Amino acid sequence: MKRALITGITGQDGSYLAELLLEKGYEVYGLRRRTSTPNYENVAAIQDRIHWVSGDLTDLASLIEAVRVSDPDEVYNLAAQSFVAASWPQPIATGQITALAVTNMLEAVRIVKPTARFYQASSSEMFGKVVETPQKETTPFYPRSPYGVAKVYGHWITVNYRESFNMYACSGILFNHESPRRGLEFVTRKVTNAAARIKLGLDQELRMGNLDALRDWGFAGDYVQAMWLMLQQDEPDDYVIATGETHSVRELLEVAFGYVGLDYRQYVVIDPAFVRPAEVDLLLGDSSKASSKLGWKREVDFNQLIEMMVDYDLERNQK
Ligand code: NDP
Repeated sequence: MKRALITGITGQDGSYLAELLLEKGYEVYGLRRRTSTPNYENVAAIQDRIHWVSGDLTDLASLIEAVRVSDPDEVYNLAAQSFVAASWPQPIATGQITALAVTNMLEAVRIVKPTARFYQASSSEMFGKVVETPQKETTPFYPRSPYGVAKVYGHWITVNYRESFNMYACSGILFNHESPRRGLEFVTRKVTNAAARIKLGLDQELRMGNLDALRDWGFAGDYVQAMWLMLQQDEPDDYVIATGETHSVRELLEVAFGYVGLDYRQYVVIDPAFVRPAEVDLLLGDSSKASSKLGWKREVDFNQLIEMMVDYDLERNQK
């Protein structure tokens, strides 16, 4: 039986990945940090099947112990301060968790179990300002937020450990991916939750920032398959994972509100507080390398994804 250690297991991707690995017969170890209130909502259904290890990505000693206890074949480093907007008010914490702590995790693996295969959760936010469209593995990075800058560090330190120590380390450059488990502060979930709440008469308006931003949105359940595939190859490499389609925030509003029979224009209020200090105008990924080398393809399209999220938020808010 293979063993995997997942950091960030209580988050969106970690929970889908844990389910996938359990289905494949893995013994799954999950790193959890101390929180003042329990936050196992995403892993509620599988909580008892996870081997829990206590640790924090900024605490190398705890990561060394986590790798020792789990003795993993595969390590998925998904933990991060993952919300772009929070990276301006918390730039240092973002750098410590999302950038430098990647080295902590790599060091823990290098010291305790250097043969373990390592996945780093890199991000399309590393592309930031448009240099080339669509964006692929060779597109130069130009991050536009402390989060994006931190992820560039995480990406290159992963590549560097592969080249310096011959570790099987991969960086997955994933474009935005969403699901009913997406945090409520992220734009897709904020919109699907608002559409549901306004439909149910629980809210009257939705405050938004830039409606013209264009994003390449996929389904998290499809994207964790790609993470796993990256660690099953003969050689480690880096891959862009994307749908190859881009949609504006405005289209997202149209689909979500339209699905519940509402016109978003009657409810959306533009609020400068939600405009990013430096915007990423367009993200559009080219995942042809992943498709040819990993055989990866997405199953869920944009409308299906948004409708799945609205359905979930309708049910949740009704309760
Ligand atoms: P989430 O925000 O849903 O999950 C983040 C996870 O990181 C949570 O489990 C959180 O734990 C954990 N975490 C945060 N800080 C620490 C810490 N100091 N020590 C240990 N654990 C910590 O993110 P997603 O699941 O959406 O994303 C997974 C990864 O993929 C992240 O690295 C993200 O930046 C990256 N990514 C995501 C994309 C997306 O569209 N979703 C796109 C590209 C990259 P807790 O529950 O305790 O807060």
